[in-house]
Amino acid sequence: MKGFDTNLRLQASSRELSNGFLHKRQNFINLNLRNCYYPRSSFSPTMLKLFTSSASRVQHLTPAIRVGSSPVESPLFKALSQITGWNRRSGSLGHRAFFCSEPTDGEAAAEAEAKAVESDSEGSDSKSSSAIVSTNPRPEDCLTVLALPVPHRPLFPGFYMPIYVKDPKVLAALQESRRRQAPYAGAFLLKDGPSADSSSSTDAEKNINELKGKELLNRLHEVGTLAQISSIQGDQVILVGHRRLRITEMVSEEPLTVKVDHLKDNPFDMDDDVIKATSFEVISTLRDVLKTSSLWRDHVQTYTQHIGDFTYPRLADFGAAICGANRHQAQEVLEELDVHKRLRLTLELMKKEMEISKIQESIAKAIEEKISGEQRRYLLNEQLKAIKKELGVETDDKSALSAKFKERIEPNKEKIPAHVLQVIEEELTKLQLLEASSSEFNVTRNYLDWLTILPWGNYSDENFDVVGAQKILDEDHYGLSDVKERILEFIAVGRLRGTSQGKIICLSGPPGVGKTSIGRSIARALNRKFFRFSVGGLGDVAEIKGHRRTYVGAMPGKMVQCLKSVGTANPLVLIDEIDKLGRGHAGDPASALLELLDPEQNANFLDHYLDVTIDLSKVLFVCTANVIDMIPNPLLDRMEVISIAGYITDEKVHIARDYLEKTARGDCGVKPEQVEVSDAALLSLIENYCREAGVRNLQKQIEKIYRKIALKLVREGAVAEEPAVAIDPEEAEIVADVGESPENHTVEENPVSSAEEPKEAAQTEKIAIEKVMIDESNLADYVGKPVFHEEKLYEQTPVGVVMGLAWTSMGGSTLYIETTVVEEGEGKGGLNITGQLGDVMKESAQIAHTVARKIMLEKEPENQFFANSKLHLHVPAGATPKDGPSAGCTMITSLLSLATKKPVRKDLAMTGEVTLTGRILPIGGVKEKTIAARRSQIKTIIFPEANRRDFDELAENVKEGLDVHFVDDYGKIFELAFGYDKQED
Ligand code: ADP
Repeated sequence: MKGFDTNLRLQASSRELSNGFLHKRQNFINLNLRNCYYPRSSFSPTMLKLFTSSASRVQHLTPAIRVGSSPVESPLFKALSQITGWNRRSGSLGHRAFFCSEPTDGEAAAEAEAKAVESDSEGSDSKSSSAIVSTNPRPEDCLTVLALPVPHRPLFPGFYMPIYVKDPKVLAALQESRRRQAPYAGAFLLKDGPSADSSSSTDAEKNINELKGKELLNRLHEVGTLAQISSIQGDQVILVGHRRLRITEMVSEEPLTVKVDHLKDNPFDMDDDVIKATSFEVISTLRDVLKTSSLWRDHVQTYTQHIGDFTYPRLADFGAAICGANRHQAQEVLEELDVHKRLRLTLELMKKEMEISKIQESIAKAIEEKISGEQRRYLLNEQLKAIKKELGVETDDKSALSAKFKERIEPNKEKIPAHVLQVIEEELTKLQLLEASSSEFNVTRNYLDWLTILPWGNYSDENFDVVGAQKILDEDHYGLSDVKERILEFIAVGRLRGTSQGKIICLSGPPGVGKTSIGRSIARALNRKFFRFSVGGLGDVAEIKGHRRTYVGAMPGKMVQCLKSVGTANPLVLIDEIDKLGRGHAGDPASALLELLDPEQNANFLDHYLDVTIDLSKVLFVCTANVIDMIPNPLLDRMEVISIAGYITDEKVHIARDYLEKTARGDCGVKPEQVEVSDAALLSLIENYCREAGVRNLQKQIEKIYRKIALKLVREGAVAEEPAVAIDPEEAEIVADVGESPENHTVEENPVSSAEEPKEAAQTEKIAIEKVMIDESNLADYVGKPVFHEEKLYEQTPVGVVMGLAWTSMGGSTLYIETTVVEEGEGKGGLNITGQLGDVMKESAQIAHTVARKIMLEKEPENQFFANSKLHLHVPAGATPKDGPSAGCTMITSLLSLATKKPVRKDLAMTGEVTLTGRILPIGGVKEKTIAARRSQIKTIIFPEANRRDFDELAENVKEGLDVHFVDDYGKIFELAFGYDKQED
């Protein structure tokens, strides 16, 4: 029953030894043990079987322990060493120490204990005090021991524990007992140890050191461990646990010495199934934990190296000692003398530990996975980038993209509203997370593109110089004084206030009067960027408010597009054709436009795509419309309407001379000295070709003339260059033409051109001296035959024909109203109406018929004309849309002229609606009508009295030379139209 001498060098890290007692230190403990005893009865047959099955694979392990006479590995030791991977051969250890003094069967145990810790000083590596000293008295003889307080955990039999002894008396006593070859003391756990808080833990330790005698005794748990003093180095004492003790009484106070009882485990049945099962469970739990926890593995390694014996009670102690159970639970295990209960307690602690180690493992795993996953991703991404670069398919790579966006917003970051900046930042983060190939990535990229490119808070410096602005406006447009005046007012207000507010100006008038071009000119005068968009026929609200980003191909609305394209937040936006706004199938474009234009709302305009509000309050809106009536009322309410009526001939001449000709000439590359259009030609062009209110057609005609002149000049130049034989017959004709009318085309033949001069010089010189003259006589050569025949059909209107004045979206015009008798006969009275009249005009005709009849009854009661004549009223001029309340009095006059068989006064035109009682109602478009009347060489005009003010406001040159009468009752018109002969008489 003998082991063999063991010369053991143990290297234990501080962690293994003390669960944190010896920090940053390594202890070398030399153990020299002889006669290690190993009791056969430590193993139950089942245990053996269990472990040998797993141990059979570890054939290389040197048999080191003998059970009885044959060297047999401890099966549990095998099992555990297999797990810990500890290989005795590779390690420096050939033998194990066994400290246990607590065998399970009686006398054998006594013998074992007697020899357990005999030391052999010769075999130790050094002669220092760290060697285990051989002891004379057997441990079980120690009935009076020094009581050492252990602060953190109880000392379990078979385990090392370093403690610090501050009390010199105690230390001396310990040294003394070592010297007396009885190196034993009792280690007792303090009832409440130092708190976890590190700063106060030193205080607590200090307190423990100060405790003496009874006081200290009261603080100690009764049950402790008999500890062999393995070494003393300074104040550090290394204890090795032996067996359980219980304090019975105090012997002396300083140092605290107590009498103890040695505790023995309750007897138990080795073959008890429950105990066996519990211990197996402990072992298997231990195995599981060992797989995961390296800390435990170290413990097992150390333990198996030195103890190597696992009886049931020892197994329980081992489990409790190495797991992280708290002091109270550990003390509970120490105090438990029932082996089964102790195993159960340990099992509980270990299971808990295992759960913790599982959690720990999963935490570690998750973190590791995350790190390695990210690294992998990064690597792959880098590779992908490199591949893409190599293949030349490198698209916008994410970081470059966000760098681009960041760079964009950087210069005026402080001007960007906070809510927008926040969205931009959120989207930038999102961009980083999205897969570059995903559709959402594209959506986000486009969105960011829009968000970052808008001119947040970036305003162009406004011009508040009234004189300068006036100059610019005059430069671009002739006349239009009210528009210009209004713009100058706007500038003046801006100057006084220091800032200019966005406003809505609505320019209304017929086509070609310069609404759009004045808009552009205003922008120039104000030094604002110009943006134009037409809402004619617009039916989709999304055009104004944008699509939601979720739609495929979603786009922001026009206003956001505008801001992007102009790059300033205070442009002038021209909304064209606002009167032709379409009807939306989904949503009302007019309301959307209202939101855009309304100064109350547009400081926080929300575009569906952009999803952040933008400030449009600094934008100057200018709308254009042909007819005010067609503008939705809520919109009209918020506008300041300036109407441009159209131009009279005189104005047109100016416009043509000073503006249109210049641009046309420039556009065609003709020099001013090369051409001359006479006043007569221009007048004829205006009167006979371009009678409409605006000047667009006039502009076209002038451009046409200049194009033809350009061709002519080039051809003539070519003729001069080429030798005579090569002349194209057609060109020859033109040359001949030119020759025939020298007053129109002055072509001064260059006498040197035919000579041997260099061609280029000849050509320039030749073109320089040519001059094309355009006069009334050759105007038709350039613009064709006049399209307008005389609007005045009659020199003197016959009976039943009267000239009316109409006003349409194309401007003012004159039109004849004709009436004739279809048949006569008693009771045949009636009225036919033709001329594509609208409902209003048809009703006007009926009313006119009634009123005329009434007047006739008053003037010539015996006249039965209306009663007996079937009449036909016709309004010619087929192309003019004819509906509106202003032809009433013209119709009555026409009917009365027929009834009285008297023609109306020469060169008379009239306009106005009549009620059934003969009152005249006001009309619209006084200026347009006046201009139209002038064009038709009308001398006398009759307007409703209510329109007198409108007429008075007209420019002098429009009113000049006209005989205008204002009437409020039809009687007056009757007199004016038919009473002339009386006046003349
Ligand atoms: P609108 O928008 O009213 O239909 P535009 O603005 O397109 O008309 O004008 C047509 C052309 O007539 C433009 O080239 C413009 O320069 C010219 N024009 C119109 N009115 C004037 C004016 N008062 N002075 C100079 N040019 C004019």
